[in-house]
Amino acid sequence: MASREDMAALDRTDPLAAIRDKFELPDGVIYLDGNSLGPLPKGVPARVTEVVERQWRDDLIRSWNIHDWDRLPLSVGDRIAPLIGAGPGEVLVGDSTSVNLFKLMAAGLELRSERRVIVSQSGNFPTDIYLAEGLIRQLGQGHELRLVDGDDVLDAIDEDVALVSLTQVDYRSGYVQDLAAVTRQAHDAGALMLWDLSHSAGAMAVDLGGAGADFAVGCSYKYLNGGPGAPAYLYVPRHLQNQLRQPLSGWHGHAAPFEFETHYRPADGIVRQRCGTPSVIGMSALDAALDVFDGLEMAAVRAKSLALTGHFIDLVEQRCGGHGFTLATPRQPARRGSQVSWQHENGYPIMQACIAEGVIGDFRSPDIMRFGFAPLYLRYVDVWDAVTVIESVMAENRWDRPEFHERAAIT
Ligand SMILES: *Cc1c(COP(=O)(O)O)cnc(C)c1O
Repeated sequence: MASREDMAALDRTDPLAAIRDKFELPDGVIYLDGNSLGPLPKGVPARVTEVVERQWRDDLIRSWNIHDWDRLPLSVGDRIAPLIGAGPGEVLVGDSTSVNLFKLMAAGLELRSERRVIVSQSGNFPTDIYLAEGLIRQLGQGHELRLVDGDDVLDAIDEDVALVSLTQVDYRSGYVQDLAAVTRQAHDAGALMLWDLSHSAGAMAVDLGGAGADFAVGCSYKYLNGGPGAPAYLYVPRHLQNQLRQPLSGWHGHAAPFEFETHYRPADGIVRQRCGTPSVIGMSALDAALDVFDGLEMAAVRAKSLALTGHFIDLVEQRCGGHGFTLATPRQPARRGSQVSWQHENGYPIMQACIAEGVIGDFRSPDIMRFGFAPLYLRYVDVWDAVTVIESVMAENRWDRPEFHERAAIT
């Protein structure tokens, strides 16, 4: 069995070890929830202060030109692009993931107007399903949402399908879809492919361009560490950009917003996916947060992520076996995202007890305890120490206190 010293030895040879110092991490906390809200990168406060206290306060409205505020949706998008296999001018930052899903699903259905089916998974993140339902109702053209139970979606993709809309890494189980194979199947059937990268971008290499994906969206407050409610991003490859019509035809997606023309005329390129005025403070924070990825090899990030999750699975099974945890995450590395989920009938109070002792993960209804392993700032000894806390919470039944059973609004 491994020891804490074995973990410390891995930290000493970890090529990413120095990146941890680029984050503000509170003392006494092992943060295993960076898949829900990434921690604060050290460069962010100074950038936000600069934007607020110099650009906004002193330069006022002139900042739109002199500080290139209006280019932020594109310039920050170009920084996300290499993390997801996109080229320059193929990623736009703005709106929320939910709104971007709506924009791209609507544009995709219009491009395949002779077809009526959207394929997704019943276990997809709820907003992805809810927005498809709302769009179908809005269109009133008899579209059908075909929801697959389980992870194997290939058989559901046939010649009736207009759009396949999937999340690459399942938020509950951490199952990783084969992005290239599913995209190929969608294209072979004549359908368009939309990926939600919220739980993958920043934790593993993603190759949208290599797979030929048609659309993607994602959150930037999870593994990209852009801060609470950070603006999301969307991806459209160049060859499709001018074929799409954007349903939210706001003035910032207009070909000439400052001509104030009476009628809408879409801009060329990814810019037509814009809608209204960008959130400058949030985009600036995200821009600074992305500095931590400068010069990083995503293959090394993925390798460390798999090592962390692999050790966590082994150590929980060795040290907490017999306490009723059932692994909900694939053991097979290729199918495992950057999180480990355990099913447990007392998952909620156990997680509350772990959080009270500084091991912060989260809980997803009905019974999933979810631990995220962001490879940029976690150490191998953190894995060991987190398991030590879980082991003692279980051995001494410290989870079974009344206060840990009370449900908070956000779990
Ligand atoms: C976190 C997450 C979202 C969140 O969408 P918001 O519009 O930012 O609230 C959407 N999809 C997936 C798959 C997610 O994991």
